[in-house]
Amino acid sequence: MKRYIVVQKYGGSSVANIDRIKAVARRIIATKNNHNHLVVVVSALGDTTDELEALAYKISKDPPEREMDMLMSTGEQISCALLAMAIKERGYDAISLTGPQVGIKTDRMYTKARIETISDRRIRKALGEGKIVVVAGYQGVTCDNEITTLGRGGSDLTAVALAQTLKAKVCEIYTDVEGIYATDPRIVPQAKKIKIITFEEMLEMASLGAQVMQARSIEVAKKFDIPLHVRSSFSKEEGTMIVQKDEKLEDVAVRGITCNKSEAKITICAVPDQTGIAAKIFTEISRAGVSVDTIVQNVSHTKHTDISFTVSKSDLSKALASAKAVAQRIKAGEVISEKKIARISIVGSGMRSHHGIAAKMFQALAENKINIEMIATSEISISCIINQRHAEKAVRSLHQKFELGV
Ligand code: ASP
Ligand code: MG
Repeated sequence: MKRYIVVQKYGGSSVANIDRIKAVARRIIATKNNHNHLVVVVSALGDTTDELEALAYKISKDPPEREMDMLMSTGEQISCALLAMAIKERGYDAISLTGPQVGIKTDRMYTKARIETISDRRIRKALGEGKIVVVAGYQGVTCDNEITTLGRGGSDLTAVALAQTLKAKVCEIYTDVEGIYATDPRIVPQAKKIKIITFEEMLEMASLGAQVMQARSIEVAKKFDIPLHVRSSFSKEEGTMIVQKDEKLEDVAVRGITCNKSEAKITICAVPDQTGIAAKIFTEISRAGVSVDTIVQNVSHTKHTDISFTVSKSDLSKALASAKAVAQRIKAGEVISEKKIARISIVGSGMRSHHGIAAKMFQALAENKINIEMIATSEISISCIINQRHAEKAVRSLHQKFELGV
């Protein structure tokens, strides 16, 4: 029988303690028994990475990035060794390998390195010897032997990149939920698991606040067309397939709804309506190293207009300082900020061909007396910035309006 390669990735919650590591080992062995070559990528145990990060910040407000990667990469070395031991304990041959041992070569961008090349030699040799290969996720090595990490959630990227290098038949992402849901089940308990979603939709949902997979890993999967199966490590249920094209269905107008409370809003009042002013404002903000999301500028009837924009909450104080400085220079009015906002978005590739989706969204919010403060659209999404206090109600009403629960 022809053997094919399966890549499985297990997230931190799937290996949070010894019992779970043993359960994962049993699942791995069951896959192996289906005549597969198996490469397993593993994250650090439970919240290890967060704990390591917290240790560093107890020592320094601004820990050196090289040392940070030395530290943060250790979590995965622990989990891959323990998992390989658990597999061997059950009588199957396994070997754990770190990113550098596998030959995952990256650039020098510590804490968010990009993979440049991966050698498949060491893995193929081990597979040829009948071993299950357990790879430490989230890490690589530069050409001058420095250890790097691939950004938080980077084990997903390790898995996708290995699936591409090894031409794997399947890439399964095991997590603690059953797959991707149409919306957050903590807000809408009856939210349904999505069976199939496109890379494009998944990327949009991730950038708008859905937290299931690392966005970079989805970009790579899209680029090389590697279908991903996101599923639970605690059940046998099929999860969500993320694919290039959903062949079976007509494009769905709204596939999912996201809610993101991580942004804050800044308004510069009474900005003089002159050429070049917006350029001045946003050049100043970007010099502060802040990236801006939605921007709204009104038409002016009085030679003055308000400009509002959103930034990540963590960048608010930096952004506010530079907005105030520039406001003074251009002789604008007051600068105000608001932290209690939420971005509610609907996402679906069928939006391109369906009409009236925006109207329906605004109706649902209006029916619930929710005021819209800003609106932003992309080809496959519509976002409204609203008061954070109405966020849950907004999600529930949109879920009902677009009949995602049926
Ligand atoms: N352990 C790393 C993190 O928590 C990488 C991962 O889990 O994918 O970000
Ligand atoms: Mg983790």
